[in-house]
Amino acid sequence: MKRIQGLLLCGGWLLGVCTGLAAQVPDPRPFGEGIVAADLRPDLELLASDSLQGREAGTPGAEMAAAFIEARFRALGLRPVVGDSSYRQSLRLDRVQIRGGFLAAGGRQFRHLEEVICWEGAPGQDSLHLPLVVAAGAEDAPALAGKAVLIRAGMAEIRELAGRYRRRGAAALLAVTADSPETFAEQSKLLRLYLAQGRMKTGQDSPMPILLVSPLVASHVLKVPLDQLDAAFQSPDSLSPLPVSIAIDQVWTYQQTDNVIGYLPGAGKPEETVMVTAHYDHLGERRGKLFPGADDNASGVVALLEIAEAFAEAREQGLRPYRSVVFMAFAAEEKGLLGSDFYADHPVFDLEQTVVNLNMDMVGHLDDAHGPKEARFVSIVGSDWLSADLHQIHEAANARYTQLLLDYTYNAKDHPERFYYRSDQYHFAKHGIPVIFYTSGDHEDYHQPSDRVENIHFGRLQGVARLVFYTAWEVAFRPERLRLDPQD
Ligand SMILES: [Zn+2]
Repeated sequence: MKRIQGLLLCGGWLLGVCTGLAAQVPDPRPFGEGIVAADLRPDLELLASDSLQGREAGTPGAEMAAAFIEARFRALGLRPVVGDSSYRQSLRLDRVQIRGGFLAAGGRQFRHLEEVICWEGAPGQDSLHLPLVVAAGAEDAPALAGKAVLIRAGMAEIRELAGRYRRRGAAALLAVTADSPETFAEQSKLLRLYLAQGRMKTGQDSPMPILLVSPLVASHVLKVPLDQLDAAFQSPDSLSPLPVSIAIDQVWTYQQTDNVIGYLPGAGKPEETVMVTAHYDHLGERRGKLFPGADDNASGVVALLEIAEAFAEAREQGLRPYRSVVFMAFAAEEKGLLGSDFYADHPVFDLEQTVVNLNMDMVGHLDDAHGPKEARFVSIVGSDWLSADLHQIHEAANARYTQLLLDYTYNAKDHPERFYYRSDQYHFAKHGIPVIFYTSGDHEDYHQPSDRVENIHFGRLQGVARLVFYTAWEVAFRPERLRLDPQD
């Protein structure tokens, strides 16, 4: 009775017009309903247990987590991605501790954390003597090979500019990021703490020293008064800058960690992939305290494992999706999205053929805005940024199967928290791949030792895992590929 009524009310159902879900896609419920809190809990208890030591990338705890995920992928019969047996994509983590340094020019010396900040070092390049050249912009920069390049730029631009100049042979970058010596002093105070922790990156790009310099230093090396710096940067050809000496006291250490990847090949277009992802690392131990990371992100990992299991069960019953479904547990997210950054630079599956990324990061906790009465909520980010088609499928999957309260607060493009850019989905989105980021949002246990299993709401976690599964199912099974919105 109900079903007939549904059909009458919803005449376009067979064409998928009304619900947003395609009629030719097999019913996912027998498998989605197998994703249950009772299965999620023991896995989460294990990942967040003391024996995994907070899963900090590069430590034995993270390795144990990776081994656990890999064993599960193997048991489910997922295909490995490296050779015919390995689920690991290894990446090197380079950690640098900068202990001091200076920049010298024309008989004056400017010290680290005073007038200059040694922002990035480079292994083996402790002391350099370089001619200096001023670049006003990326395009009109002069011959750079073997030179230090002085630019004026915002903090956010430095990395990209450094990469660009390095490819053209530059040997070091000096950046004026502050508009006055006073602002520079404030900046330096803020960055001191940050630098003291040491910094990590993946070893893929050959680094070069990057120094932030006070406008005072720029004025000295360019031999122009402070109040004429603006004009000087606008006509760099008229300048004859002093050569500079750079010294950096730096200690480098190297560790290895792995992304864990397995997949189920598609029956129709196996080269096209649907990526379901969650990072498995967390903060480890700090100042004698353990950070178990139950929500961040043991919750996403156990959901990932359950979703993989649901797809594997479907395959055992002869239901193979049209495109391949890839399950990926990222390493080193907490170090600056390093695992996904590395993956996007060294993709195992063609990025052009990567149809969607559904990423879960913190999906088991209640947030500040939703109390226990609204436990069945999830914050959604990105679903409508690149593909209205994806957004419609996601909403329709929720309406038909999970009925969660979808909170789009963080989805606003100008939201100050910038969640779209802050977890692993970003490294897919930056390549124009549609993403959905599922998260708890802010809560009091975020990045605290209290992010523990007892604060996980397993009913909620089950709901989110099912929603991701139903969305992945629809995108993987329907013959037509997700449509991208026209870009302007
Ligand atoms: Zn996280």
